Amino acid sequence: MTTLLRSEEQLPDGQQPGAQVSGAHLSERAESASGNGDPRSAQASQRPYLSVVVPIYNEVESLPRLVEAIASVLRPSGMIYEIVCVDDGSNDGSGDLLRQLAQSRSDLRGVLLRRNYGQTAAMAAGFNHAQGEVIVSLDGDLQNDPTDIPMLVHKLEEGYDLVSGWRKQRQDAALTRLLPSKIANWLIGWVTGVKLHDYGCSLKAYRSELLMDMNLYGELHRFLPALAFIEGARITEVPVRHHARQFGQSKYGLGRTVRVVMDLVTIAFMKKFLTRPMHVFGLWGMISMGLGGLLMLYLAILKLALGMAIGDRPLLMLAVVLFITGVQLFCFGLLAELLMRTYHESQGRPIYRVREVVGTKPARERPMV
Ligand code: UDP
Ligand code: MG
Repeated sequence: MTTLLRSEEQLPDGQQPGAQVSGAHLSERAESASGNGDPRSAQASQRPYLSVVVPIYNEVESLPRLVEAIASVLRPSGMIYEIVCVDDGSNDGSGDLLRQLAQSRSDLRGVLLRRNYGQTAAMAAGFNHAQGEVIVSLDGDLQNDPTDIPMLVHKLEEGYDLVSGWRKQRQDAALTRLLPSKIANWLIGWVTGVKLHDYGCSLKAYRSELLMDMNLYGELHRFLPALAFIEGARITEVPVRHHARQFGQSKYGLGRTVRVVMDLVTIAFMKKFLTRPMHVFGLWGMISMGLGGLLMLYLAILKLALGMAIGDRPLLMLAVVLFITGVQLFCFGLLAELLMRTYHESQGRPIYRVREVVGTKPARERPMV
């Protein structure tokens, strides 16, 4: 499980527990920022306004170019920013390079994971170590274009919680990448109700408080907009640039399509029944039990009232299977209800999300119910 807590909330003095964090000295940027009252460049605050989170797995050629490209876009923008690169257990020297870069730059923080955990975990680690109010994620292979970052941030400032990039002219193989992606986007949109053209685009901007409410598992980074929608986020998409991969190779093959479909089932279930699993398992359990019960009753009448033999009837087998399946589904629903309560109550997660509270402040917020 990966809980997306802002790092400064993990330890009050801003230190990372057990993590090797280098670089990210924000003082220079805070001093050089123009104090024009804009929260994005507030002088007093050391907290960056924008964190750019990049997962890195074997991208040794792209890494230095990408960091420089991001900095050259953001430096003139006046925003206080930081770049958080997460090395996801690379074995091509990306980790060492990241360590060196982070020691020599004040705008870069390197988070080195112990082994390769996958893109979702790397992104979650980046989100956890990011301190900005606004977080932008992008790939570490130079396929996303950092010059799009300010545009995404401006869009977010129009009042959205998540702005997703849309690679309108995507530079990837047509048959193995574009077609499966088109189908997946359509499927995800249909199932989740969040219709985006390009779920797979890593270039996205988020409000950090939205990410704090979301837990990422498995490969669910692709479903971030759908998860955000479950959390009640305001979501939009904007077309972004996309380039062909220059260095290294893609970390994914066609196998990802199958995993997307399985993840989709999880998301669909979460969206509809996360807080009421009994409504799905219980319903099907009752239907199955009811049908099995009726068939058994019918067979019992045949046997007892009419004296017919029922021992070799396939219908008897069907009745028993239906009944037992029904009982199991019903019990499963009850267990799921218990699990769901544990999930919410152990983490103090309310079953709702408040956007804002207006008017007088209560003396004390009651613990969740
Ligand atoms: N990535 C990662 N861990 C992994 C696989 C990928 O951090 O186990 C990173 C990778 O370095 C890149 C991003 O995730 O920055 C997207 O990967 P890739 O470019 O291979 O995906 P594609 O663009 O082909 O969909
Ligand atoms: Mg890529």
